[in-house]
Amino acid sequence: MHEELEPNIEKNELTILTSRLFDPRQRLFLSNISIVVDTNTGLVIGTYKRDDSSPVPDTATEVNTIDLRGLTVLPGLVDSHTHIFLHPYSETPSLNQMRDESFVERVVRATNHAKAALMAGYTTYRDLGTEGLRDADANFRDTISRGLIDGPRMLVATECIASSGGYEIRQEHGMHCHGAYAPRISDPADGIDGVRAAVRRRLGAGADIIKFYADYRKRQLRFPVPAWPGSREEMNVMVAEARAGKAPIAAHAQSPEAVIMAAKAGVTSVEHGYMPSEEALNAMKENGTIFVPTLAVIEALLLPGGGSNSNAHRTFQVILDHTKAAYKKGIKLACGGDTGAFAHGDNVRELELLVKAGVPLDYVLQAATLHGWEACGGDLCGRRFGCIEKGFAADIIALRGDVAKDLGALRRVDFVMKDGKMYKDERKLKFVERP
Ligand SMILES: [Zn+2]
Repeated sequence: MHEELEPNIEKNELTILTSRLFDPRQRLFLSNISIVVDTNTGLVIGTYKRDDSSPVPDTATEVNTIDLRGLTVLPGLVDSHTHIFLHPYSETPSLNQMRDESFVERVVRATNHAKAALMAGYTTYRDLGTEGLRDADANFRDTISRGLIDGPRMLVATECIASSGGYEIRQEHGMHCHGAYAPRISDPADGIDGVRAAVRRRLGAGADIIKFYADYRKRQLRFPVPAWPGSREEMNVMVAEARAGKAPIAAHAQSPEAVIMAAKAGVTSVEHGYMPSEEALNAMKENGTIFVPTLAVIEALLLPGGGSNSNAHRTFQVILDHTKAAYKKGIKLACGGDTGAFAHGDNVRELELLVKAGVPLDYVLQAATLHGWEACGGDLCGRRFGCIEKGFAADIIALRGDVAKDLGALRRVDFVMKDGKMYKDERKLKFVERP
């Protein structure tokens, strides 16, 4: 790691000075590291440790130097479970968003969401479903990657795959020629051939990641409401087809049965999985499954406005305890709040809740960076990010304060760089541009 790296101005190199840098591999804060960035490729060229004899550049005159000393510097954050087209359910229930809001309104909202997320330090979104907008997330992703709008790098799922009668808008009025139009919110597929074709459709539509519903409440309009347990043979085929297409695959799973089936099928990640079960945790541990507990959406749904229902508070505590048990078991966690159900820009709520659950901060920061990249498929996703080292994207953020002492620093993002390009700089000391 230690190399003497002089910034090469001709080659568009930039040196970033840090005094407190989080390394998600070691889960350690490192002192006095300098980062050299190639602004053409947007990649980190290397890092080196400054010793006491290293000359400290005069940042008032030094060209192509950014001084982030005194701040907490992290890799850009990865939100591993988002919905760019959703805004808080407390503003508008999801049904009304999916059914009633226009395509244009939802895209304009998404444009604002993308900017808010980037300003909050989120340089990557793992966006798991358009919720009624078919494959529009792939087009939206491309407007960011082509530089038309500012936002996180996006890896998208397009539509989620669900079995018939699964993830659908429920209506007792089924005659669409008379009733309200209910848009399709998943790509329905059944049986071995059906689900294999669905994975192919998603890849063809531009999905970076496949998402399927391992279970969903099919009998919601009946009583009692048993969950449909899911189909292991269908999951096996979807995982195999995603692998053949070199794509990661995420499973929405609520019940322990569905978590176990999905984990054994070999999914990249399990989303939600909140029902306490030792067996479900064991299945994730044994299969190396990444767990995305989505605590923030659960909080938003269970405890709206802080929550006045003591039963709901108890239920939420049980879910927090289950998450802590996952950490204690050594399950790899990634940080994704189901953002959109609550506000984009408020993404760090998930980090705060993981800390509240009892997961140590260094594990939480690792979950929100390097494990986010792994949840995106790691090298399958075509770019390395979530860690500040040679060959990784220069996604670099800086917080005002020491986050190890004050968690509130997570909400004081003074500096944001993505792919070597600066999007936010609220430091008092500005960096000096090359004349
Ligand atoms: Zn979701």
